[in-house]
Amino acid sequence: MIKNWSLQDWANVAQILGLLALPLSIALWYFTRAHFEKFWKKWRKVVFVALAIVATAGAAFRGWFAWLTHPFTLPVWILILVAVLPAALLFGVLWLVVKLKELSKPAKIGPEHYITDRIFNVVWVWGYKGHLIDEGSLSAFCPNADCKCRLTFKDDNERGWSGNLPSAPVSLVCPNCGFREDFDFRRRELFPRVSVEIERRIRTGEYKKSLAVQSSAP
Ligand SMILES: [Zn+2]
Repeated sequence: MIKNWSLQDWANVAQILGLLALPLSIALWYFTRAHFEKFWKKWRKVVFVALAIVATAGAAFRGWFAWLTHPFTLPVWILILVAVLPAALLFGVLWLVVKLKELSKPAKIGPEHYITDRIFNVVWVWGYKGHLIDEGSLSAFCPNADCKCRLTFKDDNERGWSGNLPSAPVSLVCPNCGFREDFDFRRRELFPRVSVEIERRIRTGEYKKSLAVQSSAP
């Protein structure tokens, strides 16, 4: 049956597959948004390769590679295809099996799950941009367990300007319970210092202890 298919038929199949892929991926993204990012990161190479194959096949069957079917090169082309295709398929299937085995293993807990800790006597919460700590996402919260209010910054002029500082040192103040933490450096140094401390805890592996404590907490 397939023998009777014309090049035009194959081109139509490639085109239909391509057209189906778009609404299917949109539907997939809509229904599984939460998992889609992870899924996409793992499978995007496969998707791109598949799309490239479909696009190439479509182009080929539409005659864009017609020069390949020159009488002298046609048998070679078929020979190469016949030799390469089963090997590529076998490789692809083996790769899929390995990847599926990897997927079925429980995910390792990595630093990307480390998004809060008590640093400089204050509870910090942050996010990541790629693999880097997103300094703009840093927020400070009251360490008192029954308060947990967001802390406000205070350029503490009352504490006086120490010799080297061109502006007042910063304090973090709880508007709810009155907790305060005084730092002996300026406001704009606070986030970089916290970032450096987070990075240090990640690099030493210290963050794993915090994660373990957090996951055992109610
Ligand atoms: Zn408080």
